[in-house]
Amino acid sequence: MVDPRESLDLERLRKILDLERSRGCADTAVSGGLDRFLARFAALHPGTVRLPAPSYKALTSAERRKWIEGALRIFSADDRNAPSPPEPRKRPARALSLDAPITAVRGIHAKTAPKFHKLGLNTVRDLLYFFPRRYMDYRSPVPIADLEPGIEQTALVKVWQAANRKTRRGMVITELTVGDSTGTMKAVFFNQPFLAEKFVPNSRVILSGRLSIYKGSRVFQPVSYEMADDALAEGHLVPVYSLTEGLYPRYVRRVIKEALDSLLPALPDFLPEEIRQRAGLISLSEAIRQIHYPDDNRSIDAARRRLAFDELFLIQVGVLAKRRERLEGATGIRLDAPPEYVRQFVDSLPFRLTRSQVKALDEILSDLRSDRPMSRLLHGDVGSGKTVVAAAAMLHAIASGAQAALMVPTEILAEQHFRNIRRLLGSGEGEGIVCSVPSAIGRPITLGLLTGSIRQKGKRELYRQIAGGQVDVVIGTQALIQEQVNFGRLGLVVVDEQHRFGVMQRMALRQKGVSPHMLVMSATPIPRTLALTLYGDLDISLIEELPPGRQRIKTRWLGPGERRSGYEFVRGQVAEGRQAYVICPLIEESEAVEARAATSEYERLSKEIFPDLRLGLLHGRMGAREKDEIMRRFREREIDILVSTSVVEVGIDVPNATVVLIEGADRFGLSQLHQFRGRVWRSDHQSYCLLLAENPSPEGRERLQTMEKSDNGFVLAEKDLEMRGPGDFFGTRQSGLPDLKMARLTDVALLETARREAVHLFESDPGLKKAEHRALAAEVSRLWERTDAPG
Ligand code: ADP
Ligand code: MG
Repeated sequence: MVDPRESLDLERLRKILDLERSRGCADTAVSGGLDRFLARFAALHPGTVRLPAPSYKALTSAERRKWIEGALRIFSADDRNAPSPPEPRKRPARALSLDAPITAVRGIHAKTAPKFHKLGLNTVRDLLYFFPRRYMDYRSPVPIADLEPGIEQTALVKVWQAANRKTRRGMVITELTVGDSTGTMKAVFFNQPFLAEKFVPNSRVILSGRLSIYKGSRVFQPVSYEMADDALAEGHLVPVYSLTEGLYPRYVRRVIKEALDSLLPALPDFLPEEIRQRAGLISLSEAIRQIHYPDDNRSIDAARRRLAFDELFLIQVGVLAKRRERLEGATGIRLDAPPEYVRQFVDSLPFRLTRSQVKALDEILSDLRSDRPMSRLLHGDVGSGKTVVAAAAMLHAIASGAQAALMVPTEILAEQHFRNIRRLLGSGEGEGIVCSVPSAIGRPITLGLLTGSIRQKGKRELYRQIAGGQVDVVIGTQALIQEQVNFGRLGLVVVDEQHRFGVMQRMALRQKGVSPHMLVMSATPIPRTLALTLYGDLDISLIEELPPGRQRIKTRWLGPGERRSGYEFVRGQVAEGRQAYVICPLIEESEAVEARAATSEYERLSKEIFPDLRLGLLHGRMGAREKDEIMRRFREREIDILVSTSVVEVGIDVPNATVVLIEGADRFGLSQLHQFRGRVWRSDHQSYCLLLAENPSPEGRERLQTMEKSDNGFVLAEKDLEMRGPGDFFGTRQSGLPDLKMARLTDVALLETARREAVHLFESDPGLKKAEHRALAAEVSRLWERTDAPG
């Protein structure tokens, strides 16, 4: 028996508890009973021991043992063989439903809910799918003696002392003295004074952070901490979520755990067992559990793979469903003019179509002749000659008695297409925003140009003629989808540079007619599997080759010292009768700032560098007329060098221009640079791209080097994807696809598996009507209800 009058320090407590345990928990270790001793002890050392409830005496001996072992753990911060912690009290989990609002989760109140909403978390499902950004490894804490300065490590320590002090500048520093069996160190927190009370002496804490040696002593700067008796932390890989202000990690972890515990045991798996087996995937509930609380790194991978598969698979299934809807749904307009017109048109061109162009055109024409509305993507690198294919398709539509519309992203491009297509389809020159030109179809063709900057009066007249069907082809910007525009007999819709438009805009254009055929064109080169994923509901025609005679474009990155020689090179090209673009740096702030910068660059070049040459300036702030006038002069070679902002990025076609000099090239993305390069890669002259970059970042450098090495859009696209990740590659918002949280579009193997399984599923059960696919069908429609397929 130990005399209770001995000093009541911690060592004493430990001895007594040890003794009590060794005597079979019969409450004989201390005279007067353990309850009295504990009460006195607790009064002297608040916060150290949690008193047994209701009392030690009242517990069974098994419960007493358990309590003692729990209490003894405060002495064994670094003892690997410590007895296991007391089981957290099990509360009966309330049954939650996935679609319930988050406030249904215990611990989330109406007051805190808005903070979750800010993160896009509205339903219980959202919580399950709120994946950790990373994990902290609390599995194997590093003994203090083994901590290495400078790297992030985790230690499991006991607090000896905690105190706040103020610095002269008014900052509060909480300084802890902590220790384990291998040594002691200081740990400091800044401006969190409440921590001094939280870290009571002898509490066990898990600290993650970095050690530094300050004036010879070891100081630990934690980036995070956990109380070691937090059952969710110790011995685990602990999820780290991206949170907003006012949401604390521990709290969020707790409520998410609550949701997991309540839902996972009965969470149905929408993926048919057979697919899971074949693709080697773990179950949904296991994946969700492991993504939040992984057993180890391998289980994180398995969970990721399953969840990524789901995303890709559901996209595929959704896309295939859309495609099926389209094929079975609305009947379209059969455009069946005899083939002579298009043949004559093709024969009249100054060049021969490439084999790819012919094939694409055949595919398009056979779609137009059928009564199923076409949805086709015409895909080909910059300069591959998509315009002429689209023009032929429009001619066929007109010859069949329908109207055609072509939508492009910029006014400059609308102007250019209007002029080119007028020249291609008709003979003779027209003028004005509506003009008729004699054509090969036995009557004149009437074309209209519709952009935002056309005067009201002209616009009204144009609207009238479009509605009346007098205009055969309307070419324009988004002005085309304005409410007032109505087509009398719209049969074919073409969208150029489709990646510049949102889904809604494309759909709005399609809705200007009754199930018209639709052709979308894009030069955004994407790997084929990815194309099938993103555009799986579209048929795809690919132009794989550039017109013959095109030389490889020469691309050089010039350092700051080589600027002069860059200018000299441009001068040399002009002397040979060619023309040049100078692209001004990308300035994010605003078009106005960008316009000002371009203007001063234009002035500098005109005065200092090329005073003897004819320069022109183009930027987004100029009026439409001004822009037209500049483009006309450039086209007609009245301007040698066009200084421009990125407005010339897409579509512009002036074949005599052979050199593009890009300022601040390191700030543009690869696809964008490739688009600029496409401006001068349009004829059989040798063409050049000069990249100027003052002080590129490592990634900037890598991009510039990639540009020098490759002129293949597909190679660049893969590289872009690799460097930037899929996040903003297409802008899934733009493409209208569900967000990808887990999947990487670069994971081609998984992409292919997902596609194969989706196709297979569709073959066996096209409408997802079978009972075993009901859950899957529901998941697909849930995912797609807010979005719509591209096209
Ligand atoms: P993009 O596919 O980038 O829209 P364009 O349609 O603007 O390309 O065509 C680029 C240039 O190539 C144009 O000047 C066009 O007249 C020319 N072109 C198109 N097809 C051929 C061909 N088969 N042979 C030679 N030149 C062609
Ligand atoms: Mg084009």
